Amino acid sequence: SREWHLVARPHGWPKPEDFALREAAVAEPGEGQILVRNIHMSVDPYMRGRMNDVRSYVPPFELDEPMQGGAVGEVVASRSDAFRPGDHVLHSLGWREYALVGAEHAVKVDPELAPLSTYLGVLGMPGLTAYAGLLEVASFKEGDAVFVSGAAGAVGLQVGQIARLKGASRVIGSAGTDEKVKALTEEYGFDAAFNYKKGPVAQQLKEAAPEGIDVYFDNVGGEHLEAAIGALKLHGRATLCGAIAGYNETEPQPGPRNMISIIGKRLRLQGMIVRDHQALQPQFVEEVGGWVRSGELKYRETVVNGVENAVDAFLGMLRGENTGKMIVTF
Ligand code: NDP
Repeated sequence: SREWHLVARPHGWPKPEDFALREAAVAEPGEGQILVRNIHMSVDPYMRGRMNDVRSYVPPFELDEPMQGGAVGEVVASRSDAFRPGDHVLHSLGWREYALVGAEHAVKVDPELAPLSTYLGVLGMPGLTAYAGLLEVASFKEGDAVFVSGAAGAVGLQVGQIARLKGASRVIGSAGTDEKVKALTEEYGFDAAFNYKKGPVAQQLKEAAPEGIDVYFDNVGGEHLEAAIGALKLHGRATLCGAIAGYNETEPQPGPRNMISIIGKRLRLQGMIVRDHQALQPQFVEEVGGWVRSGELKYRETVVNGVENAVDAFLGMLRGENTGKMIVTF
């Protein structure tokens, strides 16, 4: 079985030499364990943080150990009453072809209900992030004008569509290519979108939302956050979900220069971590699952094939090569 190890902690942008694909023996499951053949694995922005030796809300990856992350696979051997060979499970030991998983850390998923990869995307962690981040953290209400950055990514594409389905007055997105921008308005129902690489964010946001915004869903940080603070109306709310513009920077990024307007406009900016919102999971699966089945909410995946290409997929995602969820299929 091949597995990806982190062999050096990246400084700035990760390099292919920071990773190694190594052979490991496939062990038999012990009592209470299952052996899973992984089929799809996720590459996510937060994994960049786990490559640093910094204490955070998830511990750092260990050097010369397999990396971890969301994966779905098929049970091939089981010493747990909860699972049988042939079952499909979601678990957190990705970055490897075979995973020995404690049964208590695996969740059964049904390929008849939805394609297996969707449990890593639209019906999985990024989907719940979008749902909880918009509805719970930003206290979205009907009639709000919503701006989301990283809008053509896994979380962003879903934030914009949930806002529209829940009655937003205007949905605006930003993304890094003209093709993505076009897809946002033509395929995913955004009212306006712009390419943040083509001009100052503040100016483009003003053109897209001349009357301002009520909610900002931040996936990017930096210049986007400053522009959004400028565009938020009185009592506006922002969910600080991610700050990908800074993940590969070696120095802390300058903060928004307009923080003082948070006071005058009584803004609320709130950070979130998705695992605090597990209680919403059943409601999320029911509502979003319904929209996906009816076609009201469209999702997209960018699929890279082969475990040997997982690092390229991860780096590609950081560079913006994905539209929707980036998935590695073995
Ligand atoms: P995406 O599918 O959105 O992939 C990342 C995208 O980020 C790329 O496609 C790229 O698109 C964009 N990007 C990269 N660099 C920059 C930059 N300098 N400025 C602006 N955009 C950039 O990933 P996810 O949907 O999985 O995650 C989106 C955000 O949500 C991330 O910040 C992530 O950390 C965060 N997150 C937070 C969670 C939480 O619990 N707080 C849970 C899950 C995700 P483009 O072509 O548009 O540049």
